[in-house]
Amino acid sequence: MKFEQYNISPLIKQSLDELGFKKPTDIQYKAIPSILKGDDVLAIAQTGTGKTAAFAIPVLHILHQRDRYNTRHQVKCLVMVPTRELAIQIAEVFVKLSKHTNLTILGLYGGVEQAPQIKKLEKGVDVLIATPGRMFDLVSQRHIDLTRVDILVLDEADHMLDLGFIKDIRDVMRYLPSRHQTLFFSATINEEIKDLAYSIVKNPIRIQISPKDPVSKNVSHAVAYVEMDDKRFFLERLIKEFPEKKILVFVRTKVRAERVFAAMERVGIQTLTMHGGKEQDDRLKVMNEFKKGNTKILIATDVSARGIDIEGIDYVVNYDLPDVPENYVHRIGRTGRGVQKGQAISFCSTEEKPLLDQIQQYMDKDIRVMTIDKTAYIETITFTEETPNDNWQLLLDEAEQEDAKRKKKKKK
Ligand code: AMP
Repeated sequence: MKFEQYNISPLIKQSLDELGFKKPTDIQYKAIPSILKGDDVLAIAQTGTGKTAAFAIPVLHILHQRDRYNTRHQVKCLVMVPTRELAIQIAEVFVKLSKHTNLTILGLYGGVEQAPQIKKLEKGVDVLIATPGRMFDLVSQRHIDLTRVDILVLDEADHMLDLGFIKDIRDVMRYLPSRHQTLFFSATINEEIKDLAYSIVKNPIRIQISPKDPVSKNVSHAVAYVEMDDKRFFLERLIKEFPEKKILVFVRTKVRAERVFAAMERVGIQTLTMHGGKEQDDRLKVMNEFKKGNTKILIATDVSARGIDIEGIDYVVNYDLPDVPENYVHRIGRTGRGVQKGQAISFCSTEEKPLLDQIQQYMDKDIRVMTIDKTAYIETITFTEETPNDNWQLLLDEAEQEDAKRKKKKKK
């Protein structure tokens, strides 16, 4: 079924057309009709599946149809999200989809000045996409009135719980009118999330997208055994072999991010970094730069990257394996979004093998191993423009010795 055949406003269809969205993704196909009917929805879907549009399309249609005018400070749909990046990204999707309607959208998050946000809130907004901190701040200052919210969306509920927002989720319910529609989205599900979900949704329609394989079909992913000290050479080679590709590189800590940045700089590769140590202004600048593609390589930590949705990421590189197995899925879900294809490669060192085992257990599946034979390995660490280190010299010596042995054998 195509979007053309959906019973939604032509103004929204026009935006879908402009965005190049022709057919709904799985989650959209399953969620949109129920949301339009007014049902509560409980959906387990990872990023990259098209889940944002799965709620944004029907929400906008519902609000557009009601066509009631906003009064001061009132909000019609509240989307609660765990991070600023996610707030920005979801607001962007709403803005694009509502472009031809009169609906007003506002992304609200901390770390930036309040005054412009307050000004926008004065006239009321149809869709408010907010992180809890700043929202409660403005609610208590009476700049936001949540008593007329028709639809509550909780996005990345699992991440909200990880970040300790459970109390905020419960608190927000106190402000909402007793009759409202709730749309609950989470990438993963466990007992705690189930408890939370069932305490706030009513007879929900349950939707689960590919529960057995949490990795999108569009992502082909593999692991390569690369020792810690050699990882930078492999990254360098990948980047130099594919200069046109947009690559998102994940590292464990902000210190590692800056280290990899410096290592790439030494070999003439310009990269960007994104981690918890960056100011909000900087983060926005980095995201813009990467989005525009001026710089094609972004080195990020898990937390900072959680909300990232950048179109056309060709490669995700797990420079370090994630400590938490679920993050593997989140990370590689940054590529192969919507209907695009993506690739992911993880560098696993000897000491990281237990982490790899945990990830495979979590996914109940082995990750394909990209075998690098010794020659290719040595070629990669000699390929660098950096002054070679002792480590590869050792490997070279080893290879030479083996070669000599082989020749000797042949002679015999
Ligand atoms: P999300 O899971 O919401 O983060 O969306 C992932 C990506 O899929 C985004 O980059 C969207 O632009 C893209 N997308 C969402 N819905 C569709 C669709 N129906 N057709 C093509 N691309 C889509």
